[in-house]
Amino acid sequence: MYTNTQEAIQVNKIAIVGAGLGGLACAIALRKLGYDVQVYEKAKDFRPVGGGFGLLPNGLKCLDAIEPGIVSLIKNSGCEVSQSVLKNNQGETIRTNKTARYQDKYGLPLITVWWWHLQQVLVSKVPENNIHLNHRCIGFTQDDNGVDIYFDDDKKVRADLLIGADGINSAVRETLFKDGKARYLGSMSWRAVIKCDQQLLNPGELGVVRSSREFMFLLNLGNGYFSWLYRQLLPNFFLSPNLDVAKSEVLSKIAHWGKPLQQLVEMTPSERILEAPIYDRPPLDTWSNGRVTLLGDAAHPMAPALAQGTNTTFEDVCELAWCFAQYKNISEAFNNYERRRIDRTRIIQNRSAEAEMDNYKTQEEKSPSLVLQQLQMSNEEFQDWILSYQPPTI
Ligand SMILES: Cc1cc2nc3c(=O)[nH]c(=O)nc-3n(C[C@H](O)[C@H](O)[C@H](O)COP(=O)(O)OP(=O)(O)OC[C@H]3O[C@@H](n4cnc5c(N)ncnc54)[C@H](O)[C@@H]3O)c2cc1C
Repeated sequence: MYTNTQEAIQVNKIAIVGAGLGGLACAIALRKLGYDVQVYEKAKDFRPVGGGFGLLPNGLKCLDAIEPGIVSLIKNSGCEVSQSVLKNNQGETIRTNKTARYQDKYGLPLITVWWWHLQQVLVSKVPENNIHLNHRCIGFTQDDNGVDIYFDDDKKVRADLLIGADGINSAVRETLFKDGKARYLGSMSWRAVIKCDQQLLNPGELGVVRSSREFMFLLNLGNGYFSWLYRQLLPNFFLSPNLDVAKSEVLSKIAHWGKPLQQLVEMTPSERILEAPIYDRPPLDTWSNGRVTLLGDAAHPMAPALAQGTNTTFEDVCELAWCFAQYKNISEAFNNYERRRIDRTRIIQNRSAEAEMDNYKTQEEKSPSLVLQQLQMSNEEFQDWILSYQPPTI
């Protein structure tokens, strides 16, 4: 549990750019340390967006450290997974695998949840007055005493510290490091959340449909919500002119798949479909400068293959809050934050990029992982290293 300490950094106002999962979790943690935290978000309102995704024990442990009791709320708005099911593209089960071992081994389960539902849980823990919607950050300048943060519409805010939690296309990162566009990884994703009565999965199951150069995740999200995520290897990406075309595109790609899988896409209203190229960025050697630092996708955007984007973001939040509580001096806090985070996230970013491409290869085509070879770890040891992460206590 995070509470105010005598040692904490002596600043008052902290600005966070981005009210995604990372920015909101960070606001909760830093408010508990006694800071005046203001969150600036470009969206005009919080709307039901995003897809379904998995919260793993390392991320859940962090959320529990930031806000004790929150995991029960998340379980209620998501689905605790007890079994994963491998299916062929006709929707027939090939193999099942118990996921209860997460709970047994790490003390927390795998929970699948709708991105928007988790955002709502986090929003409910931050006072409304501390979140400023319709604030698109376009850059910042800093001096010895503070940071001026600039938004479109000529808005400007001054704060003692700035945390960029504004995602893969972060304006804060761009101002800090000018590292340009994200890197397309050669695969496209289409996903949606729908409320439906489906027969493909039993309650508590997560499904993976494997096919050649394409696959689909099926996620129960609790309370009757269900998410499908279709991915295909596509060396050159494109964006459909509208979502009706995107839906037809997916249906034509899975025209040879079984009826129950096609029906899932058919019953999805076009406007609920998200079409997105899969991007990441190469790891950075530093995330901070002066009074400004980064977290989450702004710091270490990664391919989704290991489902660690959000989970490692919650690790960042715990480590950053710990450094704030531990060090009085800003540069000491940021240096230690980077020292505790960059090596770990670099490894996970690199392995995620490798694993992303492995998704589309047959067993024969896969070559041994360079990341695992360097670490001298088996895949199981690597998974264990990620999932057994323990957040620092304050
Ligand atoms: C709408 C949305 C839906 C998502 N859905 C999924 C999903 O279904 N599955 C999944 O695995 N991951 C999803 N992600 C990504 C996932 O949330 C992140 O990979 C991970 O949680 C890291 O979170 P983050 O807070 O660092 O970044 P993000 O979640 O990307 O949040 C960044 C936030 O900053 C805001 N922002 C961006 N630029 C600016 C700016 N210039 N000024 C002010 N605010 C800005 C964004 O609107 C967003 O709210 C989604 C992200 C978003 C924004």
